[in-house]
Order: sequence, then structure tokens, then C-alpha cells
Amino acid sequence: MRLDRLGDFQRTHRNGELRPAHAGQAVRLLGWCRRARNLGSLIFIDLRDRWGVVQLVADETQVEPELLAKLRLVRSEFVLAAEGVVAEREAKNPNLPTGEVEVRLTALRILNTAQTPPIPVEDSDQEANEDLRLKYRFLDLRREKLQRSLLLRSETANLIRNYFRQHEFIEFETPILTKSTPEGARDYLVPSRVHKGEFFALPQSPQLFKQLLQVAGFERYVQICRCFRDEDLRADRQPEFTQVDVEMSFVRAEDIQGIMEPLMVEVSALVGRTVAGPFPRLPYRDAMELYGSDKPDLRCAVKLQDATNLFAASEFNLFRAAAESGGTRRVRALAFAGEQAGSYSRKQLDELQESARQLGAGGLPYVKWGKDGLSSSFKKFIDASLEASLRERFGVTGEGLVLFAVGSDDQTSKVLGELRLRLARALGLLDESRFAFLWVVDFPLLEWSEGEAAGGGPREPGRWVACHHPFTSPHPEDMDLLETDPGRCRAVAYDLVLNGYEVGGGSIRIHDAETQARMFRAIGIGEEEAREKFGFLLDALAYGAPPHGGIALGLDRLVMLLAGADNIREVIAFPKTAQARCLMTAAPSPVAPRQLRELGIQTIQTQTYRAGVMFFETVPPELTGPVQALRQATLRRPSTLSTLSMDGEVVTVETSNLGSPTFEFEE
Ligand code: ASP
Repeated sequence: MRLDRLGDFQRTHRNGELRPAHAGQAVRLLGWCRRARNLGSLIFIDLRDRWGVVQLVADETQVEPELLAKLRLVRSEFVLAAEGVVAEREAKNPNLPTGEVEVRLTALRILNTAQTPPIPVEDSDQEANEDLRLKYRFLDLRREKLQRSLLLRSETANLIRNYFRQHEFIEFETPILTKSTPEGARDYLVPSRVHKGEFFALPQSPQLFKQLLQVAGFERYVQICRCFRDEDLRADRQPEFTQVDVEMSFVRAEDIQGIMEPLMVEVSALVGRTVAGPFPRLPYRDAMELYGSDKPDLRCAVKLQDATNLFAASEFNLFRAAAESGGTRRVRALAFAGEQAGSYSRKQLDELQESARQLGAGGLPYVKWGKDGLSSSFKKFIDASLEASLRERFGVTGEGLVLFAVGSDDQTSKVLGELRLRLARALGLLDESRFAFLWVVDFPLLEWSEGEAAGGGPREPGRWVACHHPFTSPHPEDMDLLETDPGRCRAVAYDLVLNGYEVGGGSIRIHDAETQARMFRAIGIGEEEAREKFGFLLDALAYGAPPHGGIALGLDRLVMLLAGADNIREVIAFPKTAQARCLMTAAPSPVAPRQLRELGIQTIQTQTYRAGVMFFETVPPELTGPVQALRQATLRRPSTLSTLSMDGEVVTVETSNLGSPTFEFEE
């Protein structure tokens, strides 16, 4: 088809802005054909641009033959330049901001054609398959919902920049090619061509740079920056993500929180939510005790309760044993009063039990008061007096449901923390229109990490690792515990939590070289290693570092919550899949051998075998191991790209586009 030129065509209006007041005006518009329809002698085109949609109309019996010929060619997603006159519509469309008017066409240019889109470009309840959406992201992004979310993202970022500017923060750019900093995840590495065998790391965060900027005297730092972490992905994680990174000098934790709270109030107002500071502050220990989570969703008021002593004299061995364990095991409970909880069916309880099992519980003991009285998984141990105590302890006078978990605090928190959310959601206790912010403070400084076998290497020994990062200041009252009882040492670290999501985290930093050296020692980094890895930091701390601290907000997660989405991919223009791939550009991808040679890098050769059914007269020697292992292999995660765990070997199985799986073995 011969395309028309844009030439000197200038739009007079944006499509979304036309109203009855424009009736009679000649207008020129640009955009995409959202839909073209032919009704009787009338041809309708919905023309879409960034600002909205307006209906164009032409009467076949009246328009010039040249225009008619063009109109007959138009298909969805063609790019058009239209001229016409605005008129009030007879049949108005109340669902469209421009629904009271239409534009009667006088001329049309077809600026480009379009193939039939492989995914719907309009919002619908039934979303297309996400892999397809990501592959054709440039089309997916035409959808109104995504346009709205990305606009919101831009507005949020602008608001944040303005806010920090008003508060005299200075915006910096810190290096992307840098040295590994221990934020707790795996690094993305970039090989150096100039220095073969040496690597840059992409920053997990600008942590050390922003600290060094404090040493340099820039008392208020901000950066909206990209961070890179090679870790297992979840719905709210991406390999690269954006942080609003903040650092300040001469501050206490309350000062940082005091700067962030009004910002959160403003950001919430962007989407019409009213929140007021000061936000509640909850010590980490209380958060775990009351909500079983370090990021509790406070929209639900139900708290976990300790029920251990109720069973001290019980015949129910499981619970009595916990009561006799001297606190190492406890019985903890979660109670929901009311008819809705009391009418939980057997099937629903079985499902909850299954979830509890997946979370590591042996089962899910429960007590329920329903329409027909008491039922319980341990009913035979409940006499009238215990029933009365249970009712009293959990405040259930009528119907209700109490779930129990028994075990170590970590185990019971995990199970009940998750079930609390699940039930709150099911019982409609999570008010979607509310934003419940809080600060979780006084996190532990260190946690014990069981050693891992990295990349198939030998298993490393267990050790203490920093919960936040190793530059976080120990709590002044707990300083001595650093050497005597590291697990009990608290940190001056705080997380900002919104509706059950961690939207930010930060800490007051260590600002003297001696405490920093003690911290490194506590996490098993000797003097030599500390010098080699963090010499520049230790030097900086020795040259008059001010007391300082900061925080980083996760911008993607924050915008996700503002947009009411449940996945950060919905608020990122070009996200990666849960398997850390970009389906549109097909990255990561192999590179030319020449590029590898230049970098002095050799890859481990992998051999690809197409399976489905594999026949071997005799199994080739290099396959005997893998084939043996394959016989016992179980699919861990069925998906397009799955991982098989086989006797310590990792095998990738690709089922995409091939019809039959492909197994890759390391030679
Ligand atoms: N760099 C930290 C992080 O990314 C945030 C901070 O401590 O400011 O988690």
C-alpha cells in the first residue's frame, strides 16, 4: 500500500480532549486506529493517541471517492492523520470522556499500516498469555491500563524528585561498572576486556558511594537509580530494579523517617489515598510475635497469640510437650471471631492445612465454633473447662475459628504469618482502599547462614551474615553483644512497610573505622580481606566521616501498590520474566566466539539433546551419569524453562517452542 506522508500536517487537538464545546470546529488529529467498523453506510474509526480516544465517522454515500477508498483500507492499529469537523453525537457513549462527540471526516492520511496484532491491544478482563505480552511488549504497552500505570510511575518519580529538591537534597549519579558490594545477593559481573580475568560488578545498590558522598560533605544525597541483583525472582522482584536512594549526615533514625513520612503522604495523595503521619513504629521482635512477619499488613487487626500455657495440663501430647519445652517450642494461635470464620467448611480447612504443610508445619490443629457447636481436630482433648478457657483467651463468644501452630518461633511465625494474610484476604478484612504504613525498627544486626555450595563447588561453612548490610550500625545498647552473643545484637535498621510489602529499608551507618572493623570480624571478614575489599571505605572512615544514615525505597514496588497491581512487571516498561529473561529482545543470549576471545573468557560447553523419547543403542559415555540421574529426576517447577535437580547437577529443560523438551548437560 502506498503510504501518505506526515508532511506539514499538524494536530490541532489531542484525541481525548474533544467535548461538545468543540462542535462545529474543524480539527486535525493523529493516532492509531483502535477499531474500524462498518454499520450500514456509516464507517466508524476509534482513533487513539496518548491522551485518549475519539470516534471518527464518515458516511459512504456522502464522502469524496478518494476518502472512501482510503477508509476501506483502514484496519486496527493503522497510523492515521485525520481531518474533520466535530459534531455532537446522537447516540452518546457515557463510558468515553469524548463520548458526546464525534469527528465527521473530511480527509484522511494513512501514515502506516499494521499487521493484525498477536495480542489484544485493548484492555479486557481476559489478559493474553504473559509470555506473549512480554514478547510483543511494544503492543502490550499500547493498552490503556499499562499507559496509565507508566504515567503514574513517571508522576511518582517527578513528585519524589521535586520533594527532595525542595528539601535541599543533591542528585548524584554513581557508577554502574563498579566493585561488588555485599547487599546479600549474587552480583551480576561484567568482564573487563582491558584487564583480562578481572570483573566489574553491577551495583546491588549505590550503598558505599552514597556513604562516601557523606564523607565528602554532601549532607543530603538522593538518586533514583537502577540496582542489579542476581537472585531468585518473585512477583515483586526483578533482576534490575529502581531504588529511590537517600543518605543524610548528622541524623538519627527518626530524622530519616521524618523525611520519608511526608513524602509517603504526598505520594499516596497522587492516587487519592489519605494517610497521616507519624506512622506506627514496631520493633522487629514485636512484629514477629504479633504478626509472624517483618512486614505485617496492618489493615487486618488480628494478631497471633501465645497459647502455650493453656495446654500445660492437656492430654494432647503435641501441645503439652511444647508447654514443657521451656520456651524452645510454643503453641501459637490465630483467632478469627465471627460467623464467616465459624462457617469455614471441612474442605476449606483441608486447603488451609495443605498450605500450612507447604509452609513446613506438620498439620494445622484447629478449633471451630460453627452453627452446630464445637468442632476441632483435637476435640477429644477439649473438655468444658478448656473450651471455656479457649473462648475467653481468644475472645470468641459466638462463632469463630482458631488455628494453631506448634514449634520453634521461626516455624510458627512462618505458618501463622502467612495464614493470617490468607484468611484476612478470604474474609474480606483487607480494605483495598486503605494504605497502612508502618516502620519496623530494631532489626537484628546479624543472622546465621548455613553454608551453601555455590556453583556446584564445595559447601561453605555456616557463618554470621549481616541482615541488612555490613555497614549498618549496631544498636548502641547492644554493642558488646557483637562479640559475645551476635544473634541478639540489634541494628539501628528500619523498614518502611505498606500493606504487607516492604517498600523501603535503611539504617544508621557505622561511621568509625574501629566499629566497622569489629563488624567485619563478626561476619568472618578478616583484616586482610576487609582491606582488599573495602580499603577505600575504611580509609574514608578514618578521615573524619560524619555520623550518617539513609534509606532506599523500592520504586517499582511502591508504584505497583499505588497502581493497585499485584506484580511489579505491570509497572515496568520492559521487564524480565520470572526466569530472568527478556522475551522481546531474547536476552540473555550467546555471544560470538570472537567477543569471548577478546574478553579472555571460555564458556563451559553444553550439549543439547532433544528428548521426549530418547533411544540409545548404547548410552554414550558422557551421558551415563546424566541419564542415570534423569531416571530419578523430578520436575521442580513446571514452566517453559524448568530446572531439574539431579544429584547435585543442574539440568535445564526447555519446553518452549520445541514441542518436546530439550535437556542440557554440562559436559
Ligand atoms: N542500600 C540499602 C539497600 O539497598 C538501603 C540502605 O541501607 O540505604 O537495601
